[in-house]
Amino acid sequence: MPYDFPSIVILTGAGISAESGLQTFRGDTGLWEDHRVEDVATVQGFHRNPSLVYEFYNARRRQLQDVTPNGAHDALAQLEAEYPGSVTLITQNIDDLHERAGSQNVVHMHGQASSALCSHCGARCSWKGDMKESSLCSHCQRAGGLRPDIVWFGEIPYEMERIEKALEACGIFVSIGTSGNVYPAAGFVNLARQVGAHRVELNLEATSGGAFDEGHYGLATQVVPSWVKKVLSR
Ligand code: NAD
Repeated sequence: MPYDFPSIVILTGAGISAESGLQTFRGDTGLWEDHRVEDVATVQGFHRNPSLVYEFYNARRRQLQDVTPNGAHDALAQLEAEYPGSVTLITQNIDDLHERAGSQNVVHMHGQASSALCSHCGARCSWKGDMKESSLCSHCQRAGGLRPDIVWFGEIPYEMERIEKALEACGIFVSIGTSGNVYPAAGFVNLARQVGAHRVELNLEATSGGAFDEGHYGLATQVVPSWVKKVLSR
């Protein structure tokens, strides 16, 4: 069976946090929390209307106080703690629910709602409250340069080198709650296939393309704990 492979790489998307109360990205509407992606997830949108973009991510940051990790986040933390091989968790999510569930080896490839990026000094700083144009960078103390530390469309995701190394060495690749529409994350399954990894999809429904060897479909709080239990019992 494929589960003898030592190294697991997991890619999570908005679907894993849906049952915690955070809306997914595309849904049936093509919108993210009722906003057009072009307006709130591009540099052009930020330049066009910075106040709207600050407020959008301020709302996302505030929302984190009202949500808690669910059983799927918990199961992945348990997998990392108990699996004898290495587990790398790559998330497209900007929430911090994986960390709050106890996962330690997490790569936030699209940045985090609870972080600020300074265009003056390049520092990435933890950010808890609201952010606005006049906010001071806590590193260089200058105003006017802060933006949400989010990788927007057209920008290069964080830690791609580390991600590629993990994928090259992986025996099992697991995609959880992601639609496979956003690149480069959507291409990870093909990299995994090239290195001969066993590819597993856990989602509400199968995504198109047939790129996976194994799929379990249903709510993340059901399919993820059950898959983790299966892996840990081998
Ligand atoms: P997506 O919204 O495009 O796709 C969500 C996927 O999750 C779909 O395939 C859907 O079938 C599945 N899904 C929905 N509810 C589920 C459930 N309860 N259990 C299992 N699967 C479920 O998400 P994406 O592919 O991650 O792309 C969205 C982008 O938007 C990401 O880059 C991310 O940065 C951003 N985003 C982040 C958050 C967050 O941080 N929680 C939320 C929305 C969007």
